Amino acid sequence: MNKRSIRGVNVQGKTALVRVDFNVPTRDGVISDDSRIRAALPTLSLLKEGGAKIVVCSHFGRPKGQIVEEMRLSVVRERLSEFLGVPVLDAGGPNGDEPTQICSQLDAGEFALLENLRFDPGEESNDVDFSKHLASLADLYVNDAFGAAHRAHASTAGVVDHLPAYSGLLMEREIEMLGSSLDGSQGATVAIVGGAKVADKIQVLRHLAEKVDTILVGGGMVAAFYVAQGKSGGAAEVTTEDAEAAKSLLDSRGAYVVLPADVVTAPEFSESSTASIVDSSDVPQNELILDIGPRTATEYARIISLVNTIIWNGPMGVFEWPEFAKGSVAVANAVAANKKATSVIGGGSTAEIVGSLDLVDQITHVSTGGGASLEFLEGKVLPGVAALDDAE
Ligand code: ADP
Ligand code: MG
Repeated sequence: MNKRSIRGVNVQGKTALVRVDFNVPTRDGVISDDSRIRAALPTLSLLKEGGAKIVVCSHFGRPKGQIVEEMRLSVVRERLSEFLGVPVLDAGGPNGDEPTQICSQLDAGEFALLENLRFDPGEESNDVDFSKHLASLADLYVNDAFGAAHRAHASTAGVVDHLPAYSGLLMEREIEMLGSSLDGSQGATVAIVGGAKVADKIQVLRHLAEKVDTILVGGGMVAAFYVAQGKSGGAAEVTTEDAEAAKSLLDSRGAYVVLPADVVTAPEFSESSTASIVDSSDVPQNELILDIGPRTATEYARIISLVNTIIWNGPMGVFEWPEFAKGSVAVANAVAANKKATSVIGGGSTAEIVGSLDLVDQITHVSTGGGASLEFLEGKVLPGVAALDDAE
């Protein structure tokens, strides 16, 4: 997947339409995590330094093709302007004459931000006219929105038919890091896969089983694997389909799949429910598996310490509740402690864990793409990546 990069391109005096992922979380209208804005800064600065006129665009929330006041990008525009240290014009729109007028007035090194792309129904329907309108605002297109690359929308796919297209620096790094973590080029590779349900992760597990040496399993899907082994999976509902999916993975050739030797269970799915540590063969029928156990955490940490490449998606337990977060914390610390390994983390919750433990700096790459990184790990082609022009 070698796509043409914006690095080194002469952009002097040209207008660049830059698709970013500014779909930041907010609480009561205040941005609660601005890492997606910060992640786009290298590309935006590169374009500014190169003398481009920069038209930035993003979606924000799910307005479903209508103007929704609370989903305007003004809060994001203010934060972006603070980071860049220069004003960012409100280009309005996203459709119509206003953006055309405002964008045409930009000077080299100046920024404008289009209004929420999803205010226009043409964005999500990948409408040709809306794609052409977006393209008409600029001379070239840069996609730095890895987090939106799993969607074939006007601003991620359609627009590419009408402008020369380049990948931004973040897009480039995401593809490179996620890609190289799976290509076996760096020696022994472990994948750690958790999350709530096996149905959500079976495709990831199948794909990773072909790519890595060892898979460490955690999270709610452990129940399906235990059932597949003829053991008790506890009180969680495990459908025949889930158990069969787990069994097919255990039976398949490919990666060595490691299941927890002990788990933490509780009678109810609640933060204050009483936690017990039990062996894998002794899971009570009336209790739920809510975390991996301490012996498993130690064993997973040992395996993690031995490898050259680590890819982690999905928490080991219900990390939101301290009593059931210990497995995820142990794994996060082990990943951070292996200094010789390339470590890559995908998934919103998993990124949250390393963020809350202040370990981001000790991880090689924490992906900004939630759903997009998941689809990448499933082995799917991301339309926003596929649409970009290939490198020469
Ligand atoms: P990511 O966002 O990193 O891809 P997922 O979305 O797949 O991760 O899974 C995150 C969710 O999985 C968390 O909300 C966590 O509470 C839940 N989870 C983890 N382990 C369990 C478990 N044993 N039972 C129920 N839910 C779990
Ligand atoms: Mg998630």
